[in-house]
Parts: sequence; C-alpha cells; structure tokens
Amino acid sequence: MVDRQVHCSRCFVILAAALFLALPSCTLAQPHRAGTVDLRFDRFYNYAEMTQALKDLAASYPDHLTLESIGHSSEGRDMWMMTINNAKTGSDRDKPAMYIDANVHGNEVQGSEVCLYTISFLMKNYGHIAKITELVDTRAFYVLPSVNPDGRSHWFDNPNTSSSSRTGKKPTDNDYDGLYDEDGYDDLDGDGWITSMWQPDPNGRYRRSNKDPRIFKRVPRNEKGDYTRLGSEGIDNDGDGRINEDGPGGYDMNRNWPSGWRPNYVQYGAGEYPFSYPETACIGEFILDHPNIAAVQSYHNAGGMILRGPGAEDREDYYPRSDVAVYNEIAKTGERILPNYRSMTIWEDLYTVHGGFVNWTSEGLGIFSFTNELWTRAQYYYGKEGDWPREEQRLKFGDLLQFGELWVSLKPYNHPTHGEVLIGGWNQYASRVPPTFMLEELCHRNFAFTMYHADQMPQLSFSRVQVKALDAGVWEVTAEVTNTAAIPSISAIAAARKIGARDKMSLSATDGGTARVLTSGTLSDWLSRSMTLTERQPEHIWVEGGVASHGQRFFRWIVEGAGPLELEYKSQKGGTIRKAAALEPTEPE
Ligand SMILES: [Zn+2]
Repeated sequence: MVDRQVHCSRCFVILAAALFLALPSCTLAQPHRAGTVDLRFDRFYNYAEMTQALKDLAASYPDHLTLESIGHSSEGRDMWMMTINNAKTGSDRDKPAMYIDANVHGNEVQGSEVCLYTISFLMKNYGHIAKITELVDTRAFYVLPSVNPDGRSHWFDNPNTSSSSRTGKKPTDNDYDGLYDEDGYDDLDGDGWITSMWQPDPNGRYRRSNKDPRIFKRVPRNEKGDYTRLGSEGIDNDGDGRINEDGPGGYDMNRNWPSGWRPNYVQYGAGEYPFSYPETACIGEFILDHPNIAAVQSYHNAGGMILRGPGAEDREDYYPRSDVAVYNEIAKTGERILPNYRSMTIWEDLYTVHGGFVNWTSEGLGIFSFTNELWTRAQYYYGKEGDWPREEQRLKFGDLLQFGELWVSLKPYNHPTHGEVLIGGWNQYASRVPPTFMLEELCHRNFAFTMYHADQMPQLSFSRVQVKALDAGVWEVTAEVTNTAAIPSISAIAAARKIGARDKMSLSATDGGTARVLTSGTLSDWLSRSMTLTERQPEHIWVEGGVASHGQRFFRWIVEGAGPLELEYKSQKGGTIRKAAALEPTEPE
C-alpha cells in the first residue's frame, strides 16, 4: 500500500502510556513545544493531514509563522496560507516577498509536499544555517500549499487516475445536457483505482506483447491487432451513449485569471469570467493586497520543466528584453539545481495557455514568475539509457524498485456496454508523482531553486553617500543605491505599463536638523540640467523604472541648512532602506 494515511492514534496511545509510566508525577509534555514538529517526506499528505501539518508547524514556530484561511473552496474547505516572516526585522509588507503555491490541478499533488518541506526546512534551519537565517530575516514568504483543496481531497479519498480530479468541484454541465456531474468514472472492479479498459477485438489497433503481456503495443497501419483501448474505467451512467463525459467539476482554474483570459468556447475550462471561482477570487484578492510580492512560484506536475510566460504568442510584447534576461539568468541556474528539468516558455515550448496564473502575475502584475512541472520520466532510470523501450523500462523500474506496488493486474470484467473486457494497468500514483523514496529529493531540489529565485528578489543598499559644500550653508548631497540581485526593483513590463507605484527616494531633516531641499533629481536629470527650483516637493525623487538588475541609481539634492538628515529609498517590491547622514563635508572618495 502507498502510505497515504497517518496511522498515529495507536502510537500516540502507546507513547502517552509510556510517558505516564515513566513520569508518573510530572506534568505531561507540551504537545507543541517549539521546534518539535518533524514531518516526513517519504509520503504524501491528503488534505486533512496537510491541514494538520500546517497547524503543527504554526504552533511549533509562533515567532515566524502565521497560518490563516484566506477563503473557502467550492465545497467549503479552508484555503490555508502560511506567512513566514520575522517580525523582529520588520513587517512582512515592508519586505520583498515571495508567493509560493501548488496543486491548482487537484491531481498534481506533490507541489503541496514541496510547500510543507519549504516551511519545515526554513524553520528547522533558521538560526543554524546562515543563508537560511538571512533569507528568513530579509524576505517574507506567502505559502499556499493547495490552491484546489477539493481536487486534492477527492484525489486521495476517491478512486482516480493519475490525471483525474484535476478540476475544482463546483458542479458543471460538461456535455450540455442540463445535468451536472452525472457521468464520471466508475471503479467497476471495486479495487479503489480507476485503471484502463481493453476490449478484445480482431480489428483492434493494439496487440499484447508476447514478452510482457502487460504491454499493449500499437500495431502498424496495415496490420490488425487484437485489442481496442476503451479508455478509463466507467460505464454510461446517463444512457446517452457516451462513457465518463461529465464527471465531478470539469473546468481548469489555471485558465481563470485575467491576463489574456479567453471564454470557454475558445479555451476549455476558463470559467464564466476571470476570478469566477471562490478559490481564484480569494487568491486574487490576497495577491492584490500584497504589492510587496516580487517573485512567484506555482508548482504543477509533471515533465521536468521550469516554465515562464508568455502563455500565448500574442503576449510576447509583455516580456521586454531586460526582463527576459532576468528570467534566463534564474532559469539557467535552475537547470543546474534541477537535473533533467528544462527551462521553457509556455506557448513556444509546451502549449498555449490563455488566462493562466503565472500569465497574470507576470503580465498583469509585473512579478517574475515561474511554474515548475515537478517530476519527469527521465528520473525512472533503471539500467542504461536505450537498453529497453520506454514502457518496458518503466515496468522494470516498477517491478524491481517499487515491488510492483503501482501495477494493477489485468482482470476480466463483464461490461454492460462492451461485454467482456480487461481492466487494469498503472494506478494513480504511477506516473505524475515520484516514487515515495524519491519524494524528499524532489522537494529539496525544487525548494532550493525557489530559494535561489527568492534570493534574486531586489537587494537594495546605499552604496555611496557624499556631501559637498557649495556655498555658505548650501550643500550638494549625492547618493547611490545599488541592487545586487537579478530582479530589478520594478520590472520593465511594470515600468512600461505603469503597474504599481514608482519607487521613491526622499531626503528629510532629523533630530533638530534644518535641511531644506532646494532642488533634486536623478543622474539623468542632473546631466540634462533639468533639475529646477520649481518642484513642489523637491525632497522626494520619483524613480521611474526603479533600480535595474545588478544596477545602480544615482540621486542628487541641493540643500540649504545644517544638521543631521535621513535618506530613505522606498520600493513596493524592493523594500525600504534608510541611511543617516549630516550636512557636513564627507571625505572625498
Ligand atoms: Zn498543472
């Protein structure tokens, strides 16, 4: 059996009894002492277990973790969002933040384990690994392990294929007959899985392999086989002549976002309008309420891909060259962190997606966003490359490394429409999720890539502050702000389309100082001699375009007065930095 449940209640009773015997006069151990939660990553978590794991983490690390439900799914399940932030180093909203989610497709489950791993690894190693401590202290993280808790619940709790339960569970009429969800899969043989049905047929397109009868091979065009593939297990529940044509739900929440959205007749599953599902609506609201989000990762499966937009060819002009350079820089390192994964553009290298989630966050909000497609066939390595045809190699891997656990033997079944058929094949854990013994590595490598991405969010600092006397009581103050990271404080697309606020550089007197700004500007203002005395608020410089990838910006004020002052650079996605100075000459550099 695949380890899907926590069988812990009995262990707990034994443990509690042992504690009671060992410490008869002591108070009972705290159930959630800081740092005691210890999650395993050689197993999957269904929705209830995932919820419990999140609650345990939040209770164990109250200084850094805040768990909230940001809304409810169609069937009323909580949409859990974990905020990771060190309040001692400032509010999450004043820091560059990374938003991480997973599992919008209900069957694409392991992204949620990556999310749990992320929270757990950051908390366990905070204070122990300097780089992790720095990430947690200087950034905020918003982690939503399951975008589609209904889809997740049904995938674990009901018979499915590896590809079903992808949709949310709002009842939908997929075959336009006025009925909702009336003809889904049926677990005909009652074994808990939805596998494949094969009908013996002298004119069939498939033939069973003599070498391994589990394999059905497609026959060449001019030959006849002995089997016809009927698809997944099911019957014609509504008597309309079709099988499995209107199962639970039947739409795609990853087509329900506003950037480049197209209606259902153009693109299946789009929903009635963007944000029309309760899940997408509450996530949209959360993200719009957090303009400090500077990076996005949304985990899917499968295929081993590091995907970026555009999702459609007609959206290419939302990706200016300087933004593409940043995407490439991050993704190229990603290919090294994630062997067998390839950096790809959604429409060009995969397929066209209108109104996808990362399309919205990158094109609509100007946030550098990736979707990792977790797990790839290439990781079923057994023997040497090219030793066997792919299907044979997969079966050998399954037999020898997974002990046949995921293969359901073909058995005869008397089908009400098709007569004698065979039912069996790979079960729902066989192709899109990793073998459990390889799950932890998948979690760690994808977590590491996402932390590299987070580390590339803007890192701003004052690299130079210079004060020079121009005349009695008149000063020239010059400052340079440097961004050492790959992600600019404002993406080129955001600057071009005026998405979000501009960055703002300010000079103000502090502690009894009398500094009064006469004029100010950026380097280009200075060089073009466009700094004038007519500005209403010359202490503030609005910074079009922010600070570039690995770039600097230069600012200058002409100030009269004396005493201390403060420089402040404020950026929605780059955070706020401050530097004290004074109206007295600095050492020339
Ligand atoms: Zn997906």
